[in-house]
Amino acid sequence: MVAHSRMTVGFDIGGTNARAAVVDRDGAIVDSLSTRTPHDAEGLTQMIVEMVGELRAQHDIGAVGVAVAGFLDPACEVVRFAPHLAWRDDQPVRRDLEAALGLPVRLEHDANSAAWGEYRYGAGRDLDTWVFFAVGTGIGATLMHRGEIYRGAFGTAPEFGHITVVPGGRACSCGKQGCLERYASGTSLVDCAIDIATKGSFKDSGVYRAVVEKRASGHDIMAAARDGDQLGLAALESFSTWLGRGLAIVADVLDPAQIVLGGGVSEDADLFLLSAQRSMEANIVGAGYRPLPEILCAELGSRAGMIGVADLARELL
Ligand SMILES: [Zn+2]
Repeated sequence: MVAHSRMTVGFDIGGTNARAAVVDRDGAIVDSLSTRTPHDAEGLTQMIVEMVGELRAQHDIGAVGVAVAGFLDPACEVVRFAPHLAWRDDQPVRRDLEAALGLPVRLEHDANSAAWGEYRYGAGRDLDTWVFFAVGTGIGATLMHRGEIYRGAFGTAPEFGHITVVPGGRACSCGKQGCLERYASGTSLVDCAIDIATKGSFKDSGVYRAVVEKRASGHDIMAAARDGDQLGLAALESFSTWLGRGLAIVADVLDPAQIVLGGGVSEDADLFLLSAQRSMEANIVGAGYRPLPEILCAELGSRAGMIGVADLARELL
């Protein structure tokens, strides 16, 4: 069929940058664009229209997919709440975009989009009951069962990042305290380092001053750990212990055969995977009397969301 040779566009819209990729039927990116994310709803729509227009001038585009970092309704028609994007209050984003573009549009949650990309073209190929667990600025997760994304009744499942693991603990951007993502995300590496440094440990560390003056980023701490810096390594150990507890919760609740670790932090998994696995084994219920989920690393990196949502949009051709 002619329609299947057409390309689709996948958007990944973050709070700072928006990226778009033209994806072919084999999941390969043949062209891409990126820009700053506008901070108003009209600007967002206009940005998508302009980027699709630019890509359409070069490629035969049949449908558009948009990965959104926020809550959608289970039918993926409206954006209920996206903390870093201007769409909200049940705006019918999918319908509005279709009208503006004159093309079929598929909306999807960003973690679900990346999970779908890994399922079709990456580490999740041929897996049956598995969880995609993305560790980046925050934590996003998707449960996939027999080729279907599990959404829950209201479209928000599963929100492992905001499970309370320390009552009264670190403040979270969601308004709660002590959420898992405040202990086991890329940004939490900074908090782990601050907690250790303010106890007066590792004063001769290369990142000590930047940490206590709160200038260090998660990337700085990870880089320090990679260089063997003692404060960096201690922060990473705290992070990976918490990550393992998080993975144990995932296994206890959902019992997946595999957990695919994605997100920006997973690119440094060689530094913490063993430690996180040990922590998972120490915290899982029935350890020693049950099979453990296999922990795999994602393969598509930061392109997973665009490839996944472009592939989902292909169903509209
Ligand atoms: Zn939270």
